[in-house]
Amino acid sequence: MIPSPPATGQHAPRWQHALREAFTRPADLLAYLELDPSLPALAPALEREFPLRVPRGYAARMRKADARDPLLLQVWPRPDEGIEVPGFALDAVGDLQRLRDGGVIHKYEGRVLVMATGACAVHCRFCFRRHFPYGEHLAARDHWRAALRTIAADASIREVILSGGDPLSLTDDKLAELADALDAIPHLRRLRIHTRQPIVLPERIDERLLAWLGRGRLQKIVVLHANHPNELDAAVASAMLALRRLGITLLNQTVLLRNVNDDADTLVRLSERLSEYGILPYYLHLLDRVRGTAHFEVAETAARELMRAMHARLPGYLVPRLVREEPGRTSKTPIA
Ligand SMILES: *Cc1c(COP(=O)(O)O)cnc(C)c1O
Ligand code: SF4
Repeated sequence: MIPSPPATGQHAPRWQHALREAFTRPADLLAYLELDPSLPALAPALEREFPLRVPRGYAARMRKADARDPLLLQVWPRPDEGIEVPGFALDAVGDLQRLRDGGVIHKYEGRVLVMATGACAVHCRFCFRRHFPYGEHLAARDHWRAALRTIAADASIREVILSGGDPLSLTDDKLAELADALDAIPHLRRLRIHTRQPIVLPERIDERLLAWLGRGRLQKIVVLHANHPNELDAAVASAMLALRRLGITLLNQTVLLRNVNDDADTLVRLSERLSEYGILPYYLHLLDRVRGTAHFEVAETAARELMRAMHARLPGYLVPRLVREEPGRTSKTPIA
C-alpha cells in the first residue's frame, strides 16, 4: 500500500482537501475519540509499513470513548497485527502470479481486473492487498497504455473492473481518460468500479466524477465496500442518490470481520440500510488469509450460521452470497 498522492492547489476538489486532513497519527485519532492515549497499538515501526489513515468524516461516525466501536476496529492498528499466524501469507489470493502487462489481472472468464492505484482514502487493517507491491504494477503509471493494449487484444473480455487500492483515489482527469478509452474498445460491455471511497469519503462523488461516469456507452456498475450499518449516513445517502440518478447499478460487498459485523443483527441491519440507499448486497466475503489479519477471522461454520439467520429474516434479494477467494479458481468460491 502506498500513501495517497498529496493534493494541493487552489482548484483541488473538496475531496482532496478532506483526504489531506485525514487522521494519520494514532494519538490524534485517540484524542478526537476521547480514548485512553495508552490504548494498545501496533509498534510504530510496523505501523509505518501500513500507516493509520482515517478520513475525519469517517471518524465522526464512530462512537466517542468506545474502544470497541465497529468502525474504529476496522482502522485501528492493533498489536495483534504483528503476530505471525501460520497460514496467513503475503499474497493470500495468488494475484501476483496472474498479473499481466499494465496492472491487469485476468483470472475470471470475460472480466479483467485493473490495478489502477495502490492509494486508498482509508487504511483498513484487514486489507487483503496491504502487502501488494503496487509500485511495480500500477496500470495508471503509463497513462493506461499497457492496460488498454492488453484489454483491446483480447475479444473475450466483456467487463473491465477497476480495483486497487481504491480506483477513486485517482484524479477525475486520469479516470476520465481511461473510461473514454475503454468506451472505444468495441468488445467491452461493462465498466465496474470497486470502491470504498463513497463510504469513507462521500465528498468524492462530486460533479467532476459524475461527468465522466455519466457519459459513454458502457454499462456502469459500482460495487461499494461497506461493512457495517453505522458506515452509512446521510452524506453517503446523497452520494448514492447522485449515482443512481445516472442509472448506475449499485452493489455492495462486505468482509465478514470478527467483532465488527459477525452477528446476525448487524448483518440484517446492514442489508436493510443498503436497501434504503438503493444498494443491493452482492458478496459477503470470508477474510482472505493475509498476514497480520488473523484476529479478524470468522470461522466458516459461524459464517454459515449467520447466512441461515439472514435467510430467515430478509427477502432473498437482500441476502449476499457468502464466498471465499481461493488461489487458482476461475471464480469466487460459493460457500453453502
Ligand atoms: C473478484 C474478482 C473478479 C470479479 O469477480 P465477480 O465474481 O465477477 O465479482 C474478477 N477478477 C478478479 C481477479 C477478482 O479477484
Ligand atoms: S479501501 Fe479497500 S483496498 Fe483500501 S485499504 Fe480498505 S480494504 Fe484495502
